[in-house]
Amino acid sequence: MKHMKFPALLLLAAFLFTGCAFPSASSAPESRSATVFAMDTVMQLTVYGTPSSGSDEALLDEASSLIASLESAFSVTDPESEISAVNRAGKGAVGPDTEALLLAALDLSKRTGGALDCTVYPVVRAWGFTTGTYRVPSREELDLLCSLVDWTAVRISDGTVTLGESQMIDPGAVAKGYAGDKVLRLFRENGITSALVNLGGNVQALGAKPDGSPWRIAVADPRGNGYAGILEAADRAVVTSGGYERYFEENGTVYRHIIDPADGMPVDNGLSSVTVIGERGILCDALSTALFVMGEEKAAQFWKQSDDFEAVLLTDDGRILVTEGIADVYTPCGSWENAPLTVIRHD
Ligand code: ADP
Ligand code: MG
Repeated sequence: MKHMKFPALLLLAAFLFTGCAFPSASSAPESRSATVFAMDTVMQLTVYGTPSSGSDEALLDEASSLIASLESAFSVTDPESEISAVNRAGKGAVGPDTEALLLAALDLSKRTGGALDCTVYPVVRAWGFTTGTYRVPSREELDLLCSLVDWTAVRISDGTVTLGESQMIDPGAVAKGYAGDKVLRLFRENGITSALVNLGGNVQALGAKPDGSPWRIAVADPRGNGYAGILEAADRAVVTSGGYERYFEENGTVYRHIIDPADGMPVDNGLSSVTVIGERGILCDALSTALFVMGEEKAAQFWKQSDDFEAVLLTDDGRILVTEGIADVYTPCGSWENAPLTVIRHD
């Protein structure tokens, strides 16, 4: 079964939820929204005010085309994409976006000790997560495929990507974050100072709300359809990775779409979701996936050694962990309202 995500609905619902704080139509600058289906998800782009030249409608069209062009370069399921060409030949020339995306991914693989590793694709494929034709591979098959997983074997120079023997890459864990950063840059370059984009659960805010107050961004409830909390933020990316997004069940076991590159198994470490908050979408996208792989203890340690992001961890046994920097602006709600909450602090 394939679980389609409807983050646009979630975001809309978040506005309703916080409706009283939303500026009234008379005083607020006009907003315009576009809904885009790309990268296997629903995306919602909203800009407030008018661009420095041209119309807001034309700007949203440009943003939609930008996302479409990034998807056609990054997609592992589109045989015409740059990534597919590299995967088939083991080597290939790529455009500046694919090069920048992969360089950033390698950098973050290094930083996370390989918890994020785009060369995990042969394993992801064996489980059927890219096609939706799910199966449980044997341990022997996984061992064989895991021997191909090694980000250090990937070489990138002068627009050419070279993979190690039989390797394949999937930038799916960072693609939406990269796309969000580019869309916000486009908005900024066109004089927009207030915008909110939701790319399949990756929420990225440009500036604050038009009235100057922070956005109130909902964190999805991994146990249901509502929210687990509301985060107040401006000029931030808020990216959640969770097993609830895409998974399948066989013989009573749930297999989730994020894979531990160390053993090729879907992550099942007691975390339900990880939300990472930071300035850049690609960083937050990479780290939400990586911290989910690391698990509670290692993720907390990793945060303590870092200074460029904050996080909210929700556990399978119903606990909330928030890092110090956002403890005051994260409010649990719904079935998480009275859940035990721990603030992770620097030692
Ligand atoms: P989503 O795309 O659902 O928001 P993520 O950003 O966490 O979630 O990315 C998950 C996708 O990344 C998976 O669908 C898979 O293709 C790929 N992936 C799974 N595990 C890893 C991993 N450990 N490192 C890099 N990519 C991964
Ligand atoms: Mg990710």
